[in-house]
Amino acid sequence: MNELNLNNLTNDFPLLNKLMALEEVVWFNPNVTTLDQGLPYVGLDDKDIHDASLRLQRFAPYLAKAFPETQLSNGIIESNLVDIPTMKTALEAYYQLPIKGRLMMKKDSHLPISGSIKARGGIYEVLTHAEKLAFEAGLLSESDDYSKLLEPEFREFFKQYSIAVGSTGNLGMSIGIMSAKLGFTVSVHMSADARAWKKNKLREHGVNVVEYEQDYGVAVEQGRKEAEQDPSCFFIDDENSKTLFLGYSVAGDRLKQQFEQQQIVVDKAHPLFVYLPCGVGGGPGGVAFGLKMAFGDHVHCLFAEPTHSPCMLLGVHTGLHDEIAVQDLGIDNLTAADGLAVGRASGFVGRAMERLLDGYYTLTDERMYQLLGQLNQAEAIKLEPSALAGMPGPIHVEHNTEYMTRLGIDDSTLSNSTHLVWATGGGMVPEQEMAMYLAKSSI
Ligand SMILES: *Cc1c(COP(=O)(O)O)cnc(C)c1O
Repeated sequence: MNELNLNNLTNDFPLLNKLMALEEVVWFNPNVTTLDQGLPYVGLDDKDIHDASLRLQRFAPYLAKAFPETQLSNGIIESNLVDIPTMKTALEAYYQLPIKGRLMMKKDSHLPISGSIKARGGIYEVLTHAEKLAFEAGLLSESDDYSKLLEPEFREFFKQYSIAVGSTGNLGMSIGIMSAKLGFTVSVHMSADARAWKKNKLREHGVNVVEYEQDYGVAVEQGRKEAEQDPSCFFIDDENSKTLFLGYSVAGDRLKQQFEQQQIVVDKAHPLFVYLPCGVGGGPGGVAFGLKMAFGDHVHCLFAEPTHSPCMLLGVHTGLHDEIAVQDLGIDNLTAADGLAVGRASGFVGRAMERLLDGYYTLTDERMYQLLGQLNQAEAIKLEPSALAGMPGPIHVEHNTEYMTRLGIDDSTLSNSTHLVWATGGGMVPEQEMAMYLAKSSI
């Protein structure tokens, strides 16, 4: 982007000046619509989510055996929904502002197999591909007990095929571990910011880890190129994959069931606000889609990004989507938040979901570390920095009068509301690494 165009852009969108100054910003999109109005733009529906859910059920008997940590949930990969009242008090003190609603956390950080939200989309896409290959070869049918996939003949079969993905870490972990377990030959193309322990863990699982000195965008492009040269190779496209997106979307109905079990009501008088850390957008976008389909117009989703990587805010706010990157504004895309160091958002997710997302905000790495320490002290829950991005959300929502008035939410409705912070990663961070994170907080 040349200087002239950038001048025009900042004239049209003055908020970009704050983004460029790396200030924390909040933007509530005034152009959001109802679910009915927004759904046609998504291009996916209830039936697609249902198909994904059924596919995961077919694989459950296999997963329960292949990954003993999923035995308790009968092979269903799902996380807990917990109250965090002590953290709510800590947040109120930290921001010197009250929070009226209830504060809860969805612990995707502790999902089995790969310890992050990527255990939803990443694993689902590998399973979808494996099922397709096995169906085509006449080795498997829908009515089979899928635990037969553990037999050596299946590993031999999948060995002929390879899978490749570009990742900042967590997606690579999910796809690498799942693919290797099934027997695939798998390559994970890792960006410079990927943690050494994640690379090591993948290598222990027999995954081919390719390292780059550049960021996520380059790792993805290289992975894509390599895969194109090999017809037996399947490239998992984090930027455009509808399959990944659908894997995430199953969370909506699962959360609805958890809300029912805990007798938490979501309706007009009891709104639900959900705060999702956003990288390229597939994870939070897919989850938000599932939530909208499950709870309708009474769920309000917000995306949270690092001040150094506000790609989705930039894309949606300007309407340029994947035609603009944070680097075009001179923003460096350097952040300690694993999974969020993405300079260019998914064009598919932004265009599909922009009408159904209430808002976007950014936060500094320092604030993520600070909140990381506070959460550990208040609730003894340990997360990786990116997973704290959702935490300031309730403050932004409750104290934005314009937004609250537009939604028609008064103080008493706010008292009946639920704020859900989506904790996206951290469950598998080694103790030493966690000690280093905690040391960066001044708690
Ligand atoms: C990947 C990731 C996200 C965001 O998901 P995207 O699909 O990249 O938007 C958030 N938090 C963590 C910990 C992640 O690994």
